[in-house]
Amino acid sequence: MHRYSRTRYALYFIGTAYGLLALWGVLASGLSARLRTFAERLSRRRFLTLLWYYALLTLALSVIGFPLAFYSGYWLEHQYGLSHQSFGGWLGDRVKGEAVGLAINVPLFWMLFWLIRRSPRRWALWLWGALIPILAFAIFLEPVLVEPLFNTFTPLPPGPLRAKIHVLAVQAGIPNAPILVADQSRRTDTTNAYVTGIGPSARIVLWDTTLKQMPPDEIVAVVGHEMGHYVEKHIVWGFAASVLALLVALPLAQKVVEWLVARYGGRWRLTGLTDLAAIPVFLLTLGLLSFLADPLVNAASRYIEHRADAYGLRVTRNGPAMARAFVFFARHDLDDPYPPPFIKFWIYTHPSLGERIDFVMGRR
Ligand SMILES: [Zn+2]
Repeated sequence: MHRYSRTRYALYFIGTAYGLLALWGVLASGLSARLRTFAERLSRRRFLTLLWYYALLTLALSVIGFPLAFYSGYWLEHQYGLSHQSFGGWLGDRVKGEAVGLAINVPLFWMLFWLIRRSPRRWALWLWGALIPILAFAIFLEPVLVEPLFNTFTPLPPGPLRAKIHVLAVQAGIPNAPILVADQSRRTDTTNAYVTGIGPSARIVLWDTTLKQMPPDEIVAVVGHEMGHYVEKHIVWGFAASVLALLVALPLAQKVVEWLVARYGGRWRLTGLTDLAAIPVFLLTLGLLSFLADPLVNAASRYIEHRADAYGLRVTRNGPAMARAFVFFARHDLDDPYPPPFIKFWIYTHPSLGERIDFVMGRR
């Protein structure tokens, strides 16, 4: 567990640095400018040129990132017996993921370039305004449109477990919330449960691996935690926090992007901010800023996760079962209960399992 966790921590920082360097390399080598010229030859219509450019860029970045993605997403997981997915299945998931990224990012960049041309000085603020409804829609639609591409969801079958979960749902004031099972077992052996969606698309999802491997009282404890997210509307709060954070982050990103293009644009053969070949500059800036924002975002996430634990403890009144569930995560999913403080500060979205065990057992 310690060896696996340490490898994961290192991969997080190495992967981020590698991704940012790859974007820099695509720009500095002139590859981005060449892909843009090539895409312009493939189609004269601006939207199609953008689509071609973005597809080619995605392909180039996937090839550059393949060794690390393969090691981190496939090799390591098999090495530690956490995954039994076939190589073809893993690759298929990645292709699907990139296709979804393409379908989302191409229209976004199309809009971004239009905004920059319309308002060269204040495009970040216009972008912010445009992103609010888009983000709300994305949170609403993701469980309905995107998640079914990767999993099949079936209602949790009737039985004692469903009855217990139903009691929790009634207590939470959401007797009709769908409780679904995702067929993750064809991919991984690790366990998980989460709440997703907003309004009518909101749902509680349990991976089938969780159902197969955890005893019922521990599953109920986990669902109690998930109900906490649901009841306290953490998705809505998360959305509001993102909107506020973007109000700060986007104008800052504008400054960084403009500085990079002014300083290196000539060397990278960019004709300006709305040159398609400048897209990696936006991706680089976004990647860098979100990496730097991680400690703040994760501190907020840890707070929310702690509140969900507190709710779960209140409704299930079964601290020992919750603690056993956390021990299960540590042993079975190789999740380190006592991470180094710096690692927790930078990348932990949840309080450490050690802290969570102490909390539900009334030790803090
Ligand atoms: Zn949670």
